[in-house]
Amino acid sequence: MSLNNEQEIIIVGAGAAGLMAADTLLRAGKKCLILEARARIGGRIQTVMHENSSPVELGAEFIHGRPRVTLELLKRFRMKAVPVLSSRWRLSQGGFKRDLDSWKELSQALSQLRVQRKDRSFAQALAEMKISAKIREAAEHFVSSYHASEIHKISANDLAFQQEAAGESGMMGYRLPKGYGALLENLAAAFSPQTIQLKQRALQIRWSRAQAEIVTQKARFKAKRVLITVPLGVLKSPGSLVFYPPLRAKETALKKLEMGFAARISFVFNQPFWRNVSPRNLSGFFQLEGADIPIWWTGLSKDSPTLTGWLGGLEALSIGSRNEFIHRGLESLSGVFGLDTKSLKSKLLKAYFHDWSLDPLSRGAYSYCGVGGMSSRKELARPVEKTLFFAGEATDISGEASTVAGAFYSGLRAAEEILKV
Ligand SMILES: Cc1cc2nc3c(=O)[nH]c(=O)nc-3n(C[C@H](O)[C@H](O)[C@H](O)COP(=O)(O)OP(=O)(O)OC[C@H]3O[C@@H](n4cnc5c(N)ncnc54)[C@H](O)[C@@H]3O)c2cc1C
Repeated sequence: MSLNNEQEIIIVGAGAAGLMAADTLLRAGKKCLILEARARIGGRIQTVMHENSSPVELGAEFIHGRPRVTLELLKRFRMKAVPVLSSRWRLSQGGFKRDLDSWKELSQALSQLRVQRKDRSFAQALAEMKISAKIREAAEHFVSSYHASEIHKISANDLAFQQEAAGESGMMGYRLPKGYGALLENLAAAFSPQTIQLKQRALQIRWSRAQAEIVTQKARFKAKRVLITVPLGVLKSPGSLVFYPPLRAKETALKKLEMGFAARISFVFNQPFWRNVSPRNLSGFFQLEGADIPIWWTGLSKDSPTLTGWLGGLEALSIGSRNEFIHRGLESLSGVFGLDTKSLKSKLLKAYFHDWSLDPLSRGAYSYCGVGGMSSRKELARPVEKTLFFAGEATDISGEASTVAGAFYSGLRAAEEILKV
């Protein structure tokens, strides 16, 4: 095992947080080295090209609202974000209905959430709201699906805080025509080739004040400061990344924060067959009533032949093998579009899927905050002995946690902390 030269700063993880931190440090004239376990950068952002031309996301897809940090990057790289088609449909075997009213009611119900002195779960907060049974069910489904959470565990206070921080624009979505991956590629393009070492999985971090040794599966690295950006799921998993001495100061925060689960599957068909069924210009978000996989959305343009299905919360752990997930997706669609699974399969060119729950380098999709854990993100983010620093979406305190924007903000914040030492 080789011992690499001592570095001033090492960043563990080349996702949005790690790359943003490196960018900030390098632009401030510091040197740093990023150690990334995968053979690629991007982490939970992974864009693949269907037939080398149209981007398909395996992880993050949407920019939620108008986060300043992301908008600044887009401006810098002259990239455009395209608004997501906002039409929402409720589909059942009986027909297709615009779903705008219940969506509005749902947004209104969620906006009733307030940070209260005593925290409670979202399930408890919902029980106190005066709303119809239909909206209650929709709210439960929304929070478990999109916050990838368990409604009995997720903190109502943290949800309220995130909603307030997002404001009116929080419900708006944008996409990048070249895919999210292109943004990270642009960010890393200015780094020298030595800045990132891929296939370097950190196994141990041995540390004392202003001194750390990082042991990977093939080398040892020394640094004065280490910025850890690995996902919450990795930090919570015993033995995944071992600290000597252990990080006692982070134990409570790690208990209070939860890694949520989500699974998405993108089907590229030979044609957007859903546009031939009534109403003809069907595009946007679909809620398939009674389907095994109920949430679907169409691709970037109206003519895109891509449909993406989504399962969030504990349901995302039930997907089974890749083939089972494909089968369940096709069955869900067939029930509504009046096509049998066999003929749908004959139209399917390719299915794209990555199991983030089983991936040992993510161990889930994104974080959420448990009841009483409002301060946990701050505690997780707090530097230890001016030696260990922390970033990643789970450490975001700007109200954007669990998103790419949150990861960017956290990388920026951690880099600034290092620059102040
Ligand atoms: C299916 C899915 C859909 C999503 N959709 C959206 C969306 O639409 N919009 C949105 O804003 N967000 C979305 N997200 C969340 C978003 O992807 C994440 O919040 C964000 O990408 C996290 O960035 P990060 O840098 O904190 O972590 P990561 O991207 O996970 O980066 C951490 C890096 O650390 C590496 N690593 C892990 N362990 C080690 C180790 N021991 N040694 C070295 N390296 C290690 C990992 O390989 C990874 O590259 C989605 C996530 C998933 C999974």
